[in-house]
Amino acid sequence: MKYVKEHDMTPPANFTLVTNWMERGFGCAKACAYCTWRTSKYLPHGAQSKEAIIAFISKCRKNFITVSGGADPLFRFEIYGEKLLSMLATIREEGFMTRVITREIAQVAHAKGLLDCVSISLDPDVMAELPKHIASWKGIEVECSLVLPPLPTAEIVRLKPQYLALLRQLTNMGGAGNWCKRLVLRENLCSIFPLDMEQLSFGHAGIVFVPRGLCLAGRYLSTIDSDGYTLMQDNIALGKFLTSQPDLVLFGGFVKHLLQPAIHHYYADIDVIALDHGAMQRLENLFDYQFHEVSASTSYPRYFIGKPSKAGKTLQVILLRSMPDALAFVHQAQFNGDRVALSNNRYYFDEAVGEQGIRQAISTKVMKRVPTEKRFWLFHADRERIQNKHHFKLLKKGFRIVE
Ligand code: SF4
Repeated sequence: MKYVKEHDMTPPANFTLVTNWMERGFGCAKACAYCTWRTSKYLPHGAQSKEAIIAFISKCRKNFITVSGGADPLFRFEIYGEKLLSMLATIREEGFMTRVITREIAQVAHAKGLLDCVSISLDPDVMAELPKHIASWKGIEVECSLVLPPLPTAEIVRLKPQYLALLRQLTNMGGAGNWCKRLVLRENLCSIFPLDMEQLSFGHAGIVFVPRGLCLAGRYLSTIDSDGYTLMQDNIALGKFLTSQPDLVLFGGFVKHLLQPAIHHYYADIDVIALDHGAMQRLENLFDYQFHEVSASTSYPRYFIGKPSKAGKTLQVILLRSMPDALAFVHQAQFNGDRVALSNNRYYFDEAVGEQGIRQAISTKVMKRVPTEKRFWLFHADRERIQNKHHFKLLKKGFRIVE
């Protein structure tokens, strides 16, 4: 086995082989809201070559190599299993221990003999299935892991008793003894809230936190050999930037998330109004976004989609001429809870509905339709269809609509 030199003070980075066995598409049966790889341009398609794997892991100063999504390493084992086993065998041949992160718990035992440690990513489906499989994992070190919700520290502190109860539940599960070595809580890379790990510590090794810095400083072999900073968007920095610019106006799910993160855990694409091209230019320079226009360059407003080069959030950008136009746009939304904008660290609530009414709609997820005379020149020609789509999306997210 490899060893870490005792005199070297730099903490050695974790090395991860990123998998996606499918030649086209994304090989995972789940659709987690925080999944950063599904749309990444660095997502591999098919296995990396043995030579590339050996060259990559030869630089690792830890004694184990992780195999992780990308897409789930154990996805459709009956089809892709040989690729995973060959990867694990290469890691072992090079003198490292193997560790796989997966949700495909029914497949874990197939990799026995080549697997030293498995990290089981928990969700309600996985929890329900665990008792059936625990006994088949003898000889493999097992940890269970969860991605923390994207919340501020104070909200996560409130959840600590739940994590303790979960650890107890896992420990007692199926009368199988102490099969779960630890519960690992991973900082959510999509979160825009920095976490104070000292406040979160449980003070024992049964529950450990993995801060985002550890993930971002890790080395990854996907389609390229790089660190996490190259592959993944720094969402804390992006959030800080978007909320503090005088020529950017935010609205939609991202603003609801900022106002009530415990109720609106996740946001999908970020809705942004840019008041000039300069704001988009800065997003290109600072965060490596690429924008393409989806409207005619003569139309008003103009619409752009911004894709990050790294795994991260898409920006839906509307280019408007002025702040009054931006506020008119947001404050004429069809539902009361959508009538709030954020720019330069200041919220703009539609006075016709009132701050209290808007906050209440957001915190209770009960939206009221607000009849107004619309300035249609500000809206997309296909506004009717867009509004219906938005209505449907709100229902899907658990909102109740009061007509
Ligand atoms: S299980 Fe992993 S790879 Fe699959 S969608 Fe969730 S985060 Fe992405």
